[in-house]
Amino acid sequence: MVALCDRCGVREAQYFKVSSGERLCLNCLFNTIEDTVTRTIRRYRLIGSGDRIGIAISGGKDSLVLMYLLGKLRRHGRIPRDAELIAFSIDEGQPYSCVRRSSAGDYIGKLTSEFNIEYKLFTFKDLFGVTAFDVAQGLWGKGVNMHMCTICGVLRRRAMNIIGRRLNLSKIATGHNLDDEAQTVMLNVMSNDIKRFAWFGITPSNDVAEEEFIPRIKPLRFIREEEVAIYAYYHGIPLMTIECPFVYNNPRFELKFTLARWERDNPNVKYSIVSFGDQLSRIINDKFRGQVKLNKCTYCGFPTSGSVCRVCELLNQAGLLDKYLSHIRAANIH
Ligand SMILES: [Zn+2]
Ligand SMILES: [Zn+2]
Repeated sequence: MVALCDRCGVREAQYFKVSSGERLCLNCLFNTIEDTVTRTIRRYRLIGSGDRIGIAISGGKDSLVLMYLLGKLRRHGRIPRDAELIAFSIDEGQPYSCVRRSSAGDYIGKLTSEFNIEYKLFTFKDLFGVTAFDVAQGLWGKGVNMHMCTICGVLRRRAMNIIGRRLNLSKIATGHNLDDEAQTVMLNVMSNDIKRFAWFGITPSNDVAEEEFIPRIKPLRFIREEEVAIYAYYHGIPLMTIECPFVYNNPRFELKFTLARWERDNPNVKYSIVSFGDQLSRIINDKFRGQVKLNKCTYCGFPTSGSVCRVCELLNQAGLLDKYLSHIRAANIH
C-alpha cells in the first residue's frame, strides 16, 4: 500500500519533511515552499508596492529558484504586481566564475522573458578594473594566503552596491537558503566574531551594516537547501554541473556535513541556529543603533567604519590599489 500525503490525503507521499514530521506529495511540498516564501516576504515586509528589486543571479540553483519564485508570486499577485524585478549577474573573472560554470544561460533568458524580468551582466573587470584572479595572483605572489571565496566575497559585496545605485534598486534579493544562513551563524561563532551578527538579521539596521547600503533581502532563508534542490529539479531549473573547485577548502563545505549530522538528532537544528542568530542580531543592532560613525574611505570614498575600506585594503595588499583607483576615477564609479 502506498503512503498518502499528510496534507491532501490524495496523492502519494514522496517527501518526508523532517522539520514537521509530515509525509508530503510533491505538489503539497511545492505549495509549502511557495507559502513559506510568501509568508517570509509579507511578515518582514521584504517587498512593497513600487519597490525596484534586484535579483542577484549566481547561476546556481538557489538564485534561479529565487528568480522563478519571485516571478511566479508577482504574476499571482502574492507580492505587489507593481514591484519591479531586475535580475543581474556578476562575472568575477576567475576561471571558475559562477556565471561561467553555470549552464543556466539559456534558462536565464527563458525565465526573464517569461516573467518579464530585465537582465543585466556585470564584470569585476568593468567595475574594478581588475578580476578576482588578478587579485588572487597579486596576493599569492606576495605570499598572502587568502581564500578565493573571501576575495570574491569582498568584491561582490561592493559590486552589488555599485550595481544597486546604477540600476536605482531599492533592495537586492539574494538566494541564501536556511542552510547557508545556519552555516553563517556557526562560522561567526567559530571565529568568535560577534560584530558580524549586526549584518546577519533578516532586516539588519543600515546604521550598522554600512558596507551594504542597498538593503539586502533573503526570501529563501527559511527553506532548507534540500527543498530548494527538489523544487529546482521538478521545475526544470538547471542545477550547476561543475562545482567551484575553490569550495573544497572553504570552511562552509565541512559545516554542511556537520549540520546534516546534527539535523539527524534534532530536525529543527538549522531553524534554531538561524533564529538564535536573528535574536543576537537584534540585540546588537539595538545596542549600536546610531552609534556607528561612518567615514569615507581615504582612497575610494566609499562608506566605511574605519578609515580604509575592505576593498582598498584587499587591493592594496594585492598591489593593485593604484590600478583600481585610476579605473574608478576614469569610469566615474562611486
Ligand atoms: Zn499532497
Ligand atoms: Zn576604499
